[in-house]
Amino acid sequence: MIRLFIAETTPPFADGLIFPLNPDQARYVAAVMRLGEGDEISVFNGRDGEWRGRLQSVSKKHVHVELIVQTRAQPAAGNAPKLLIALVKRARLEAIIEKATELGAGEIQLLITRRTNADHTNVARLQLIAQEAAEQTERLDVPQVLAPVKLEAHLKTAAEILIYGDEDSTHETGERTIPPMLEALSGLGEGAVSILIGPEGGFDAVERQTLSALPNAVAVNLGPRILRADTAAISALTLYQAVKGDWK
Ligand code: SAM
Repeated sequence: MIRLFIAETTPPFADGLIFPLNPDQARYVAAVMRLGEGDEISVFNGRDGEWRGRLQSVSKKHVHVELIVQTRAQPAAGNAPKLLIALVKRARLEAIIEKATELGAGEIQLLITRRTNADHTNVARLQLIAQEAAEQTERLDVPQVLAPVKLEAHLKTAAEILIYGDEDSTHETGERTIPPMLEALSGLGEGAVSILIGPEGGFDAVERQTLSALPNAVAVNLGPRILRADTAAISALTLYQAVKGDWK
């Protein structure tokens, strides 16, 4: 069954509520998926859970939906990990957004670091990618993709536990100074968590110095090889969800 995220503008979901799909969704339902009056779809809005709806007055441009029944209640907002991701090339960034949404990231903050080397960032497009991934993975919410800010500026306000992938840990000879992520997670307290992954060029010495001096920051190693930023983000989120998150 087609599953669509309905934006904030629609009134709270309730039995019999009738509302229009937005033009893109109407075209998708009517022209692409060729659904007609009486056909049913699944909708969610990030607030009122998931509902089954029946299509009313379908035309190529306009589709109205009448809500029939709630199929899943909205869970209380949990402690989903926030992903802090340094900007990387567009295709890789889009993949990171999609996978982070699938893996249950609560929010995705784009970051500008000293070695950031990225294309123009189309945040609206990235938000749509997160929405489509949320629709696909049967999430009941869509993580917000937050416009790029400078890493230093973000660190000034960040109060949550900050787990950051430090690839420098792979260059050691002999004794390991940065714990493997699993070990670091087992010693972690409760509370909101952010996972920070650096740019393709890595963090520079000043950033590494700043991070290591933060009382709420934990450097982690993601294995002996240098992972691309997208692989590092997916690995870190997977480990977090398995040990501390909603895979437990
Ligand atoms: N420029 C770095 C280098 O060549 O040494 C590689 C940076 S890596 C492509 C991008 C980011 O992924 C890093 O800043 C780090 O956050 C994370 N990362 C990659 N491999 C890692 C590892 N083995 N351990 C911890 N973090 C890693």
